[in-house]
Amino acid sequence: MKQPFIMEEIVSVLKRVAPSNKDFVALHEPSFQGNEWSYVKECLDTGWVSSVGKYVDRFEEMLSEYTGVKRAVAVVNGTAALHICLKLVGVESDDEVIVPTLTFIASANAISYCQAIPHFVDSSVETLGLDPNKLADYLLEITEVRNNSCYNKQTGRRIKAVVPMHTFGHPVELDTLVDVCQRYHLELIEDAAESLGSYYKGRHTGNWGRATALSFNGNKIMTTGGGGAILTNDEELGKWAKHLTTTAKKPHNWEFVHDQVGYNYRMPNINAALGCAQLEQLPDFLTRKRALAARYHKVFSKVDGVSFVTEPDFGSSNYWLNAIMLSPKWSHLRDDILQATNEQGIMTRPVWKLLSDLPMYAATPRMDLSVAKQLESCIINIPSSASLGAVHVET
Ligand SMILES: *Cc1c(COP(=O)(O)O)cnc(C)c1O
Repeated sequence: MKQPFIMEEIVSVLKRVAPSNKDFVALHEPSFQGNEWSYVKECLDTGWVSSVGKYVDRFEEMLSEYTGVKRAVAVVNGTAALHICLKLVGVESDDEVIVPTLTFIASANAISYCQAIPHFVDSSVETLGLDPNKLADYLLEITEVRNNSCYNKQTGRRIKAVVPMHTFGHPVELDTLVDVCQRYHLELIEDAAESLGSYYKGRHTGNWGRATALSFNGNKIMTTGGGGAILTNDEELGKWAKHLTTTAKKPHNWEFVHDQVGYNYRMPNINAALGCAQLEQLPDFLTRKRALAARYHKVFSKVDGVSFVTEPDFGSSNYWLNAIMLSPKWSHLRDDILQATNEQGIMTRPVWKLLSDLPMYAATPRMDLSVAKQLESCIINIPSSASLGAVHVET
């Protein structure tokens, strides 16, 4: 059977825009061209590899300065950061927490770690993230506000928080969402794991939530091997975040006094050393990634039936992970396209399966999820490493 032309076109565009001298083009690989060796070596030479050391403090200060958020607390990974963010704002057992169904599993798992229940909501085609207008209509219909708390009239449970996620680096429409949260007494936590270097109306993502989670996993825009951070503009909350993630130990030279159930979530110094070196290069990574995205955009605009996902008007994206959308008439070819590209050594991937369809979340509350369902069927992620952005090719 003759392959539809669209598949050949996609393969050819990817080969031209993201050429590589290797047999295999990864979806996203890290780049270590700066002070990584020297900072990590210093940790080894001095023996400061573990839970204390100057790089943790330095990394936290650098993160706070870069994002403009008052306090950053470095932790073991982004999932742990989300878990603590939810605790900080008071999410308790049997609360519901609003979260998009189209996100990485960590967003919902962190809610489950608090014995709370994810309540899945739909996405916007423009941002691929939570749709605040659809959420507002939905809350009006299914909730009532009593004693400054929001209750789900259908389940009787309190809805405590909303966790938007800035998908692939594209910022969610935050002004509308903040307004909805205020009206319904909902705490806002940003899952900014994918959006370090992304701005909403000129301010870095992570400045809107009471607490925000970042991730520095190996596939993110910058990495600490594994790692994450909690951001907050509330000094008291920041202090508590540090305390909770460092076993809730009271400072003392020798006594072990812990004043609540804490977590051993602190980031080791050796990972923070890597983080400092990576963060120094973030502006350069961003330039390269935006250059790569611009090339993709230009070339895909000439391919019928495919659109390249671009940043919304109100924001600036880090273009962490590039994505194309197949028009509905071609979405039945999604898996064939994934297979053809991967067989040619170009790594591509579908977007996540909707979390509301996974077995452990099958019985959770949800709104109409038709936009997310449509997006699930047509999004394909394409190679996005910063190193690809440095290549200059005629497109
Ligand atoms: C990467 C990621 C996280 C956190 O992942 P970790 O691997 O635990 O650092 C959370 N949410 C989203 C949306 C992510 O992409």
